[in-house]
This record gives sequence, structure tokens and C-alpha cells, in this order.
Amino acid sequence: TQATLDRIEKVEPNVDAFLSVTKSSALEQAEKIDQEGISESELLKGLPIGIKDNIVTKGILTTAASKILHNFNPIYDATVMERVKSTGLITVGKLNMDEFAMGGSTENSSFKQTKNAWNHTKVPGGSSGGSAAAVASGEVPLSLGSDTGGSIRQPASFNGIVGMKPTYGRVSRFGLIAFASSLDQIGPLTRNVRDNALALTAISGFDEKDGTSAKREVPDFAKYLNGDIQGMKIALPKEYLGEGIDEKVKQRILEAAETFRKLGATVEEVSLPHSKYGVAVYYIIASSEASSNLQRFDGIRYGYRTEQHDNLEEVYVKSRTEGFGEEVKRRIMLGTFSLSAGYYDAYFKKAGQVRTLILQDFQKVFETYDLIIGPTAPTVAYDLGSNIADPITMYLSDLLTIPVNLAGLPGMSIPAGFSDGLPVGLQIIGKHFDEQTMYNAAFAFE
Ligand code: GLN
Repeated sequence: TQATLDRIEKVEPNVDAFLSVTKSSALEQAEKIDQEGISESELLKGLPIGIKDNIVTKGILTTAASKILHNFNPIYDATVMERVKSTGLITVGKLNMDEFAMGGSTENSSFKQTKNAWNHTKVPGGSSGGSAAAVASGEVPLSLGSDTGGSIRQPASFNGIVGMKPTYGRVSRFGLIAFASSLDQIGPLTRNVRDNALALTAISGFDEKDGTSAKREVPDFAKYLNGDIQGMKIALPKEYLGEGIDEKVKQRILEAAETFRKLGATVEEVSLPHSKYGVAVYYIIASSEASSNLQRFDGIRYGYRTEQHDNLEEVYVKSRTEGFGEEVKRRIMLGTFSLSAGYYDAYFKKAGQVRTLILQDFQKVFETYDLIIGPTAPTVAYDLGSNIADPITMYLSDLLTIPVNLAGLPGMSIPAGFSDGLPVGLQIIGKHFDEQTMYNAAFAFE
């Protein structure tokens, strides 16, 4: 823990991944563990972990990188934090992100700009940019992020690490500050596959405090890791190598497909014909859910309250106007519009129907195949500041990760080489609750 804190002090001025570092409580906990000792089966006990700042941590400031929560000091822990603690993981701080997890570059944080671990002029990806950069730059061996449309996988890809978005329902969302409740999942970011498997086992499991939590056994994912993928059937959707995908990224993915073949798997082209509607469907559903979830930030119950107000209405309006950033307001307006009486059928209802078609595409492929592979993102990390003024370009760049959330499937990103000195991520998509097969393939590939 001391070495971690030293490392954070050394690289943080260049990376800016942390919103807060919990030095004294971390050292205290480490001291306690030193006295207790660590048994052979407690593989994660005593390891430092960083937590994305939209995960509620008792007694530790939790801002979701928003001015509106700048002073929110929770009186309870998210369920994942209870599991982190009972595993003996030591929380060393909270990690930067796009405000309320809305974004893909961490440039929407109200507080600071995190940099890519490989090149400090590039974005770290997002929205879990802090979680990815902190792991990739050696600040922590492990972090937690959240993924609504790609926010674990894309920053993992941009920073050359392993990021897992588990099956919807695998990990409790209780205490995750809600963005889009039907899409959000918490998951681990690590430097290798085994660490990731260990971490997922630690944070998973049924939770009665989350109405969408699944009553499923939690496998000991790391225990069953083997490099054997002989006879595995892998699908490569042609839509994932089509228009808008950078040539060099495509090259790395085709090489990865070759590697899987050499390891004894078959890799064949398939089609996910409705995936092209994913971005449109996502921005209706995610924004609609967000507009509802964010109603609770009213200047009364949480965080920021405007200084000047003459009546209650003004408290609400001014607190929200001053407290939320531009992107968050954009989503609230989009979501409120698509849910409004005259438009509900044309937008929200229609989006739900197309969401089912996207899920059915995946189900059809999984009748024959064990896994789906493709790029995680269409490009490698880009220059800081280069896309932020253009929301449409930002939205379109999530085309490869979004369908996975819409279908509730598990998806992960693992390092698959470089393009112009920046990491390329390979995305692996699995069947519902079959993270084990994904980890096995990733482990064989690594
Ligand atoms: N980039 C996507 C968005 O802005 C996804 C974010 C996420 O997964 N939290 O909504």
C-alpha cells in the first residue's frame, strides 16, 4: 500500500487519474491486515484498489465527477464496496470519469483532465478513464469502473489493459450512481486476465438491494482458467470490420483471429444486421433513463445548491443549471423529449423494439458460436480536445460496444497489439453469464 501511494504521488502529476487519494484510511487498513495475516486462499487480500467516483463509498467523497455532487459524502457503501472490503482489498482512492459516466474521453469531468497512460497528449478514453489510466500507469493493480455503453471496455482498450463488463445482473448496482439503469454494470480493470477473473468473482453475486440482480452461482473464474481453446467456435461479425473502423485497428483484429485459429479455435464471419441501429437506440434509451434518474439532483437532497434563490422553483432550476455540465444537460433534454407524451411511441417505444432485434441477432449467433470477437473501438486513443466539441462523432465511436449493453451480454477488452505506438483493444463478447469462456479465450490469447 505504501508503494502504491508512492507510485501515485510520482505519476499523478502527469496522469491525473485520481479525484481523491485516501492515504490515511488505506494505511490504517494495511496495518490491520499486516497484523491479521493473509491465508493462502485470500489472493486479493491486502491489494490496493482504485474505485470509479460514481460508486458510493461510505465516508469518502463521491462526486461522479459532477459539480452537483462536489460535497457528497455518503453514509453507506455500495454493495460492491462491501465485497471489496470483505475481500480485504484496500481502497486507495476515487478515480476520475466523465460526469455521471456520460462521455467517452473523460473530458466531461467537472474537475480535471485525465491523460492516456501511454501518451499524455491523448485521451484515456471514458467514461472510466481514471480507472483505466491508473491501472495502465502502474498506480494500482486493479480498479473498478462502470459500463453503460462501453465505459469499461473502451478506456481499457485505449490504455492497453483488461476490462470486463459482466453480464447484466451479475454485479449489484446498489450504490452505483445511476446513469441508465437497464444498461449499467460495474466491472474490473486489471493488467492481466487472471487478476480480472479474481476480481470479478470477488464483486459478483446476488444482492436483494438490486431488483435486477441475478440469482446465479458465482464461479471461481480464476480457478478454471486454462489455455485450452481447442475446438472453440468464434464468430467475427462483418459489421465490426466495416465502415469507420481504422485500417490498422482492423489489421490487429484479423491477426488476433489468426492467433485464435493457431490455438485451435475456428473463427468464421457472421452478421449482426441490426447492430447498425445500436447507437441510435442507445441514445434514446440511455438518455431517457438518465433524464429520470437525474431528477433526484434538485439542490435539496444532495450536493450543490445555488447561492441565489427567491423561491423553491428557483432552487431547483438554478441548482441544476449551475451544477450540471453541458453533456449532462444535453442528455436530460434528449431523454425528456423522447419520453414526452406526443413522442413516446415514435422514440422510446420504438427503441425498445429495435433493442429486442439487436438481442435476437446475438442469440442467433450464439446458437452456433461460443464467442464473438471484434475491435473494442474503431480507433486508438485520439488527441485531447480533438473530438469534444462534436457530440455526434463522440456518440458514433461507441458503435462496437453499445450493442452488448443493449443485449445485457458480457463483453471484455484485452490488449491486441499497437497502432502508431498506441494500444489496440480486442473485444470478446460472450453468452449471458458465460464470462468463464471469455476469460479462457482471453487467457489463451494473452
Ligand atoms: N460513451 C457512452 C456514453 O457517453 C458510454 C458511456 C458509458 O458506458 N458510461 O454514453
